Amino acid sequence: HYNFCAGPAALPTPVLERAREELLDYQGRGLSVMEMSHRSPAFVAIAEQAEADLRELLAVPENYKVLFLQGGASLQFSMVPMNLLGQGGTANFLYTGIWGKKALAEAKQMGFDVHMAGSSEPSGHAEVPTQADIALSADAAYLHYTANETIGGLEFDYIPDVGVPLVCDYSSSILAEPLDVSRFGVIYAGAQKNIGPAGLTLVLVRDDLLDRRCPRIPSLFDYQAMAEAGSMVNTPPTYAWYLAGLVFQWLKHDIGGLEAMATINARKAAKLYAAIDASGFYSNPIAPRNRSRMNVPFVLADASLDKTFLAEAEQAGLLNLAGHRSVGGMRASLYNAVPEAAVDTLIDFMSDFEQRRG
Ligand code: PLP
Repeated sequence: HYNFCAGPAALPTPVLERAREELLDYQGRGLSVMEMSHRSPAFVAIAEQAEADLRELLAVPENYKVLFLQGGASLQFSMVPMNLLGQGGTANFLYTGIWGKKALAEAKQMGFDVHMAGSSEPSGHAEVPTQADIALSADAAYLHYTANETIGGLEFDYIPDVGVPLVCDYSSSILAEPLDVSRFGVIYAGAQKNIGPAGLTLVLVRDDLLDRRCPRIPSLFDYQAMAEAGSMVNTPPTYAWYLAGLVFQWLKHDIGGLEAMATINARKAAKLYAAIDASGFYSNPIAPRNRSRMNVPFVLADASLDKTFLAEAEQAGLLNLAGHRSVGGMRASLYNAVPEAAVDTLIDFMSDFEQRRG
């Protein structure tokens, strides 16, 4: 079976196999990682190794903290303004889809000043705003955007260059390719796509932004407090952290790093888009330069065949191809753990379905 779920997504099979081997007895200690104190030397070693491997994979500069938090990417929609707007200013947003809109709405609902600095709405969310389209407010404290809109399948093909800290929701494309972390003030990502299981949220934050938090911020929401405590102000999601560490090891040793991962991902996406474009039956509306490499939405020329398509795909072992409930259609998520063979099998199935039913 191949799992095209948008999230929680497939994990690399070697990672799950290693977790199974170590499930009851972690390296001869007579207990599971799940049963260890987060303060024990064994778990602290797991946590530190995961951070070191992530820093190596993304070449995270020294002046950034790496935090392993809870609450999902959605909690960052409110934690970012709480941590960055303590000295005033306006949160600026680029709106390119549902997740970015939620981030803006959350900041607004908490009473912070917000400004829409650019939007893909005029294009029907088929094209991201260009650098020249971005118009910050005069008192912008930061600019937030969503690198890859998971539902629309719309991805930035550039990193904006603005005079204020960039904050980016990288939930659905982090670790898909090398990334110049130094361009950002804050990067965050829910783990359940390219990092590990749900329940863990990764945050990278530049040191000089740690003193901008609002007074009376709860300590669990406070980047500075979390950084000082090694992400252990309270009990962290230890097992998810351990599994993320196994994924980082897999990326380093089995894949060979993020350059190698990017090459594989580019090939997977290019094949699927080429098959969609070559057919008169399937279509994807996104401008080629902004097509997501991770989430490929497509529709059938005859939507009355959607249910049949999904049922037959499932019978063929191709799981979770339904589009997001808010938009319908189909969506194939091609995260790191989805092998190239899965894409080949999907393309063969789509072509066969078109011939029989199209
Ligand atoms: N941001 C993006 C780009 C997402 O894809 C998702 C979830 O799919 C979220 C935020 C919300 O993540 P969470 O469920 O971890 O809060």
